[in-house]
Amino acid sequence: MTVRVGVTGAAGRMGREVLSAVTGRENCEVAFATNRSELDEPVEGVEIDPAAEFDALVSGVDVVIDFTGPESAIEYADACAKAGVAFVTGTTGFAEDDLESLQAASEEIPVLHAPNFSRGVQVLLNLVSEAVEGLPGSDVELVETHHNRKRDAPSGTANRLLDEIEAHGEFSGRTHGREGEQPREDDEIGVHVLRAGGIRGEHEIVLADDHEELRLTHRAEDRGVFASGAVDAAEWIAGRKSGWYDFADVIDQ
Ligand code: NAD
Repeated sequence: MTVRVGVTGAAGRMGREVLSAVTGRENCEVAFATNRSELDEPVEGVEIDPAAEFDALVSGVDVVIDFTGPESAIEYADACAKAGVAFVTGTTGFAEDDLESLQAASEEIPVLHAPNFSRGVQVLLNLVSEAVEGLPGSDVELVETHHNRKRDAPSGTANRLLDEIEAHGEFSGRTHGREGEQPREDDEIGVHVLRAGGIRGEHEIVLADDHEELRLTHRAEDRGVFASGAVDAAEWIAGRKSGWYDFADVIDQ
């Protein structure tokens, strides 16, 4: 069966990679691609339609892959819910209320949200839990670095890693950066965000006490890794029953 995929934000950094990944798969095809601003030129060989036409284009496709922004992702999820089309989104920066809106759509259709579609980051999530449990009492700090156009901070992946750290240890809260007289609290988690150049995405978790130090680092070398994971998720979710899914479900299949 060929999975018919709609792509939103198709001219964005991730959208381009997704178009390239979908066209490179034997059992997938691009059913349509939209972008907020109109484009005269095809992207990755695919004609781009204006985002305003999304509602008309979406019926009849199997799944939509979205890498845009939180507001538009929610609008697209609602439109997919009305059309009965599965929705995969890698968009980050959702506020708590936004996520609830996205989850509401998952009552009608299958929705998969992942702040990171790299398999390496999935492994990192497991390693982080093991490290926090295995090194109780260690100071834990997280440093993430992304390109200078990224909007949300900390990254969705960093927030996901922080949730994992908190779920596996006793911490008082997150301290975002330090300045001036600000000694470290024993049980805080330090969070540090760097934005520079074209860096694709780095996440490092440092665990240390007075005697030893452990660093767990993931570095994305190119955006193709995220696009490939998102297309794996699209193939996996097409035809599934409605519900709220995670990239871990795709990997654990
Ligand atoms: P980008 O700015 O290059 O592209 C975003 C695209 O979405 C643009 O084409 C833009 O025109 C479009 N867009 C934005 N708002 C829109 C709206 N309201 N309606 C219609 N289209 C709209 O950004 P990017 O680097 O491709 O990242 C997009 C999102 O994906 C961000 O939230 C980013 O954090 C996230 N991201 C996730 C992963 C992952 O693995 N989950 C990886 C990389 C990036």
